[in-house]
Amino acid sequence: GVSHSFVHDALPMRVVFGPGRLAELGQEVERLGLRRVLVLGTPEQEATLRATADGLDGRAAGVFPEARQHVPAAIAAAAADRARELGADGCVAVGGGSSVGLGKAVALRHGLPVVAVPTTYAGSEMTPIWGLTEDGEKRTGRDRAVLPRTVVYDPELTRSLPVGLSVTSGLNAVAHAVEGLWAPDGTPITAVMAEEGARSLLAALPAVVERPDDLDARSGALQGAWLCGAVLGATTMSLHHKLCHVLGGSFDLPHAETHAVVLPHVVAHNGPSAPAAVAALGRALGVDPGAAAGALADRARELGAPTSLAAIGMPRDGLPRVVEAVLAQPYANPAPVTRESLTALLEAAY
Ligand code: NAD
Repeated sequence: GVSHSFVHDALPMRVVFGPGRLAELGQEVERLGLRRVLVLGTPEQEATLRATADGLDGRAAGVFPEARQHVPAAIAAAAADRARELGADGCVAVGGGSSVGLGKAVALRHGLPVVAVPTTYAGSEMTPIWGLTEDGEKRTGRDRAVLPRTVVYDPELTRSLPVGLSVTSGLNAVAHAVEGLWAPDGTPITAVMAEEGARSLLAALPAVVERPDDLDARSGALQGAWLCGAVLGATTMSLHHKLCHVLGGSFDLPHAETHAVVLPHVVAHNGPSAPAAVAALGRALGVDPGAAAGALADRARELGAPTSLAAIGMPRDGLPRVVEAVLAQPYANPAPVTRESLTALLEAAY
């Protein structure tokens, strides 16, 4: 069960949540004493970035719409240079993990505070984890300086998130919760956040698929994503995140889809060694603990998520490389991970 000996280190962040709250972004920027922020995000969301900058009442120094998945180091350097040229005193990152990751990279280099406006369920905005990719290798680290000072969650912004990405991004968030439930440094607070985050997301996703425009469904999903992201920020991730990191980094598989495919297999693998975690996941899914892994796989399929690594572009002959890379790195995990068990897990996911 949850340990009765723990350290809980609360992260100092302000969270503003609700439909229409984007209108308060200017006040939130002002509250931090910022006068010239650089608005960052992906090219696909440039219109949203420009509208966001226009809504800042003269507090936007510019827009940098060049964020890319996994934060390429050259783009991070270009964003940091732009921030310096414009005399920016902070960044507002609008978008998913790629946009927030770029804001964090600028914070890492120049120490500029980040305000995040998330539009997916990835949860990066709640963590002090940064990532940078150079020469095909992704480095990550933890630094309080990259933790956003304020996060403005406006579910209206998620209405345009395509259904497929809503589902896989939602399952990516559920993965944070699941690994938080069996994390070596979980606490009573992270356990509550994880179970409620998973419950809220899993309850909302079917409605999101049916009615992507439904603000209640979108609000439930985003609220769940916030809690799951907070769990990611507060605990140490295990086998699932390690596997997805290796798969994504070595074979350039899409981030959220990879999480969606792999999660039920890791739950099946770890479940017997993590009874309290599967009991909490079972409650979140409304099933018995023993049925949690199967129910999660069923739910992902019903929601239309991809169900195999083959379907998302993984080459079969790459599986042994993944096994070796995962075995080579030490990390906490509730169940022992052997060459045999990991190979079987990956074959099943493939
Ligand atoms: P993403 O940020 O790459 O976004 C995917 C696509 O969806 C982009 O084209 C984006 O423009 C578009 N999009 C986002 N929100 C939209 C919306 N509301 N409407 C329409 N289009 C929208 O994807 P992601 O899954 O959010 O993030 C993945 C990245 O984040 C990975 O690189 C991952 O490693 C990183 N990540 C980091 C952390 C951390 O703590 N550091 C946590 C989670 C994810």
